[in-house]
Amino acid sequence: MRAFQRIAVLGSTGSVGESTLDVIARHPDRLGVFALSANTRMEKLAAQAQASGARVVVVPDADAASRFRVAWAGTASSPEIRVGAAALADTAADAGCDTVMAAIVGAAGLPSALAAARAGKRVLLANKEALVAAGSLFMAAVRDHGAELLPIDSEHNAIFQCLPHGDRAAAPTRPAAGVRRLILTASGGPFRDRDPEDLHSVTPAQACAHPNWSMGRKISVDSATMLNKGLEVIEAHWLFAMPPDRIEVLVHPQSVVHSMVEYDDGSVLAQLGLPDMRTPIAYGLGFPDRLASGVGLLDLARWGRLDFEKPDLRRFPCLALAFDALSAGQGACIALNAANEIAVEAFLQGALPYTRIAAVTAATLEWHAGLPSVTLNGLDDVLAQDAAARAHAARAVLADR
Ligand code: NAD
Ligand code: MG
Repeated sequence: MRAFQRIAVLGSTGSVGESTLDVIARHPDRLGVFALSANTRMEKLAAQAQASGARVVVVPDADAASRFRVAWAGTASSPEIRVGAAALADTAADAGCDTVMAAIVGAAGLPSALAAARAGKRVLLANKEALVAAGSLFMAAVRDHGAELLPIDSEHNAIFQCLPHGDRAAAPTRPAAGVRRLILTASGGPFRDRDPEDLHSVTPAQACAHPNWSMGRKISVDSATMLNKGLEVIEAHWLFAMPPDRIEVLVHPQSVVHSMVEYDDGSVLAQLGLPDMRTPIAYGLGFPDRLASGVGLLDLARWGRLDFEKPDLRRFPCLALAFDALSAGQGACIALNAANEIAVEAFLQGALPYTRIAAVTAATLEWHAGLPSVTLNGLDDVLAQDAAARAHAARAVLADR
C-alpha cells in the first residue's frame, strides 16, 4: 500500500472536485487534503475547507480572499489563503502535497497542471484542455521530471485500465506493444437523435441536460456538440502516443462501456461501470490499489442491452473539426480549444445560438490556417497563441450577432 497521500484539489468546487473530495473523505487512513482552489464560490470553498481540514486555499484575487474570510467565520484557525494564478501553480508544486487533482475547467488549468508535472507529482488529470493545448509540452514535463500521470477523464481512465502496465503510470513515447486501436465511446449527448436543422433555438438548460452524466456546464455543452469527444481524441493521442488513425469513436448511448482497447490478436478489452466519476477518481487516487468509491453495482441484467454505432459527422460537425485540428498540428489544436471555450461561454451567456458554436470554431481554425506557422517552444508561446485565438473567436462571436 502507498504511503499517506496529501492532495491538492485544484477546482475543488466543480463537479470533478466535489467527487474527488467525496472519495478522499472515505479513506482518512490513506488520503488527506493539503489544498483546495476555486474561482468563484467562496462559501462552498470555505465549507469544503472546513470539512476536509485543508491547510491552504487558493483564490483568484483580493476580493475573493475577503469573501472567503467572511464565509469562513469558523472557530478553527483559517487555512492559509493564497491569491492569484501564480499561487495556483506554486501550490501545485508545493512540497506539502504528493498528489495534484487537476480539475480546473479550460486552458486556465494548464499552468498549474504543468507545474505539478514539473514538480514530479502524481498528477490526476481531469483537465483535458491542458493536453489539447499543450500535449507535447505536458507529456515531456511528465517524462523529464518523473511525474506519475493518471488520466481521470472516464474514457482515458478506462483505456489506461485496459492497457498493460506495471505498477507505475508513465508517459509513453510510442503505442503499447500489441495494441491495434483505441476505441473511445461517446454517449452522443442530449441531441443524439435530433435533426441538426432543429437545434438553432436550443437553450443552455437543454444543452446541459446530459442523459447519463452530471457535469460542469462547459463540458456538458461540449458533450452535446461532441466537441468533447474531439478533445478526447486529441487527449488520447497524447496520453497513449497513439496516431489519430488508430483512434476510433463509437456512439454508445448507455455510457456503461467507458472505452476499449483492441489488440493485434483480435482481443478487445473494455472497462465497464456506472457513469459516475468517482470510479476513475478512486482508481487514480488508489493506483495501483483499488479503493472503495461509493459507486453502486453495475447490474448488467437490468441494462439488458448495450448499443454502439458510428457517429454521424454531419450531425456533429465539431467532432470533424477536432480531427482536422489534430492533423493540422498543435497550433490548430490550441485554436480549436480556445475558440470553443469562447463560443461555449457566449452560448451559455445567451450571446450565441447553439448551432453557431461550430461556426465560430471553424472560422477560428480557418483564420489560424492562414497564419505563418510558428514553433511553440514553451508555455509562454502556448498561452500567446491561446490568447490570439480567443481574441479572434470573440470577434467572430460579435460578428455573428
Ligand atoms: P466545473 O465547471 O464543474 O468546475 C470547474 C472548477 O474550476 C471550479 O472549481 C471552478 O471554480 C474552477 N475554475 C473555473 N475557471 C477557473 C479559472 N479561470 N481559474 C481557476 N479556477 C477556475 O467543471 P467540471 O465538470 O468539474 O470539469 C473540470 C475539468 O474536468 C474539465 O476540464 C472537464 O473537461 C474535465 N472532466 C470533467 C468531467 C465531469 O464529469 N465533470 C469528466 C471528465 C473530464
Ligand atoms: Mg470523458
